[in-house]
Amino acid sequence: MKISCGFLIQPVKVQLFFQFEINISLASKNQSYSMKQTNVCIVGAGPAGAIAALFLAKEGINCILTDKAKFPRDKICGDGISGWVVSILYELDKNLLLRLAKQSFLLHSYGIRIVAPNSKYIDLPFPDNNLIENNIPPGFIARRIDFDSFLIEEVKKHSEIEFLEETEISQYQYENTGIVLSDKNGSIQIDAKIVLFANGANSMFMKDPGGIIKDKKYTMTGLKAYYKGVAGFHPQNYVELHFLKKLLPCYFWIFPLPDGLANVGVGLDQYRISKKKINLKEKILEAIETVPYLKERFANAEMVSKIQAYGLPLWDRKRRISGDRYMLTGDVASLIDPVTGEGIGHAAISGMLAARQAKRSLKANNFTADFMEQYDKSIYDKIGKELNISSKIAKFIKHAWLFNAVVNRTVNSKTLQHRLSLAMSDLEVRKRLKKPSVYLKVLLGR
Ligand SMILES: Cc1cc2nc3c(=O)[nH]c(=O)nc-3n(C[C@H](O)[C@H](O)[C@H](O)COP(=O)(O)OP(=O)(O)OC[C@H]3O[C@@H](n4cnc5c(N)ncnc54)[C@H](O)[C@@H]3O)c2cc1C
Repeated sequence: MKISCGFLIQPVKVQLFFQFEINISLASKNQSYSMKQTNVCIVGAGPAGAIAALFLAKEGINCILTDKAKFPRDKICGDGISGWVVSILYELDKNLLLRLAKQSFLLHSYGIRIVAPNSKYIDLPFPDNNLIENNIPPGFIARRIDFDSFLIEEVKKHSEIEFLEETEISQYQYENTGIVLSDKNGSIQIDAKIVLFANGANSMFMKDPGGIIKDKKYTMTGLKAYYKGVAGFHPQNYVELHFLKKLLPCYFWIFPLPDGLANVGVGLDQYRISKKKINLKEKILEAIETVPYLKERFANAEMVSKIQAYGLPLWDRKRRISGDRYMLTGDVASLIDPVTGEGIGHAAISGMLAARQAKRSLKANNFTADFMEQYDKSIYDKIGKELNISSKIAKFIKHAWLFNAVVNRTVNSKTLQHRLSLAMSDLEVRKRLKKPSVYLKVLLGR
């Protein structure tokens, strides 16, 4: 017997139907179902969910962390893990970060290469946040199958966290004392005082209860494949963003990985993909075969995986990301940077801040939407400005001629390179970059 979508929108019916189905299954298969109770249930054990669970454990707060997958599992991604992740893990547990930095699946990365449509490039070192002396890099690159599993192994060390793999949550129901979550056939039910929805870009909870309707203009489809034998990387493993004219404001990326591997991919907003009937898979192959400098670098390279696609919900505006007894985190809250496509760092931040809000709510025994709104505020205080600036910079990037001109001038100016390098971490500098006058000054050589 199947539960249709109609039942999901009508919670009372769901409940009735549920009881009915449970009785049948109990009678026919002699199967039992469990009702678990917890302070916090986290749906999804990607970076947002796993990091939220670890911060809760640090505070001694019990939680249940569920994931539909069995770990280790892959996640389609560019595998670039930014300084935000480094600083959040540092805040969580310095030793954990030191352990991570030593893993052989991880490549330390010290900068970013930005290639303009005219193929001129600038190399911008990541600012050193005083961690390098401890052999902790300012950023790194690691296949998600390895990075996410590393976090899950940490999760398993904590008795405060009950980790349920292969548990897909598909329904929620408000009760007097909390929210009851359950899987499709009700074989598991979790009664939680607070729920963190952390189940990624395709989450059904983004819309209900979250109220977020995806806009194709701000939802990107990203494609990635692993290659072996790509030549010409920066000796300090810079991540590379190639702004090819046909893809602006999106980009083609090449991120080096250990063992001579590279993550190669491309992303474009779904509005243009469907309007112009763009085949993104062809775009990757076309770029490699026709852009002269890429052709040269891929001359001896070989694709060693399938090309895979997944959605990226980009940040487009401030909106509510919490409500009565729940918070949206990571991709469910649409927190991906609209210029860089960076989502792991923001997922980590939201996991940390959601755990802090859960602590406040439990202490005050207040789970109302009004009280939960402190979570939204904490997110926007931390990354709201950055996201806002990025969405303005995205507009400038659309113009290939202006992008080319600015890169041309920057290539020859150490001062400008330094300024752009700073802009990656200094919000005040980045703020200036969103003003057209800054680019005018660059062009005029001031
Ligand atoms: C092609 C591509 C390239 C990208 N490149 C980068 C990059 O280089 N750097 C970067 O920072 N970001 C990148 N991103 C974005 C990044 O992947 C996401 O922002 C990040 O994974 C979000 O983390 P999350 O924890 O919110 O969700 P996810 O990592 O998606 O984790 C969600 C988890 O929820 C589980 N789940 C799903 N549904 C359910 C359910 N119903 N019940 C229980 N569990 C469930 C899933 O199995 C998964 O484990 C890229 C994205 C794409 C698509």
